[in-house]
Amino acid sequence: MPDDAKRLKINFWGVRGSIPCPGPETVRYGGNTPCIEILAANERLIFDGGTGLRVLGQSLLAHMPLKAHLFFTHSHWDHIQGFPFFLPAFIKGNSFKIYGAIAPNGATIKQRLQDQMLHPNFPVPLQIMQADLQFCDLQVGKKLEIGEIRVETAKLNHPGEAVGYRISWRGLSVAYITDTEHYLNKLDENVLWLARQADVVIIDCTYTDEEYYDEKVSKVGWGHSTWQEAVKIAKAAEVKQLVIFHHDPAHDDNFLDRVGTEAALAFPNAIMAREGQSIELTPVTSSLKQKPSGKIVRS
Ligand SMILES: [Zn+2]
Ligand SMILES: [Zn+2]
Repeated sequence: MPDDAKRLKINFWGVRGSIPCPGPETVRYGGNTPCIEILAANERLIFDGGTGLRVLGQSLLAHMPLKAHLFFTHSHWDHIQGFPFFLPAFIKGNSFKIYGAIAPNGATIKQRLQDQMLHPNFPVPLQIMQADLQFCDLQVGKKLEIGEIRVETAKLNHPGEAVGYRISWRGLSVAYITDTEHYLNKLDENVLWLARQADVVIIDCTYTDEEYYDEKVSKVGWGHSTWQEAVKIAKAAEVKQLVIFHHDPAHDDNFLDRVGTEAALAFPNAIMAREGQSIELTPVTSSLKQKPSGKIVRS
């Protein structure tokens, strides 16, 4: 259990989209697929179970017994492939509440996590997991309270659908919005709503505009967005800090450096998500009338 109830901390365990891409060209931003951890009010919230979840699981072995909430945006491989390798789920005494929306084909999050662990595709079935696993079908749009933390959800524009999240605690708010594709002639109302005046918005920026609109290999309809579109959202929703996320596996460290420089020119508080990075936010207290302060801690 996190020992600090006075701040909100975001840890980035996986920031890459689509497929893990370890190697010398991606070592600075990281090759693991999505997994974000948010600690606040003595609660541990985990978003997505990409391969970053395996690394998080290893770090959590020092914090047993564990209680955590695990939220899935959707069940494309890059968001669930770390789950069968999440060691704390195999250990008795730990307990996890696992949330996800029902897929358009009617499959619950439990069914989808179970299916990826079935023989002959995987040798260890979900039933072998010894932790107490409680599965919850999200009603997208309905608010959820976890102790002092509020979790809001909205549907995203993605093949097979995905859920966007907004977490609020003591005047602080963080939005986690991936995977999602922008609309060509208007800003997505759901994305704007999730991002509204948030302290931190972590958002799908898989492509650049140039790649997205490429005449030879257009990415229109692939379910992802661009950093230029994310900047439009950040400005319209008055976001305090924008975190460029779900990096394309084809983008090496040098490419992502360039994206970071260009994005920061367009929106000064834009940063690139990096594996191992943390962001800490301190809530406003009623006696001290100051704005929440955010600081980036790199490990
Ligand atoms: Zn993805
Ligand atoms: Zn996806």
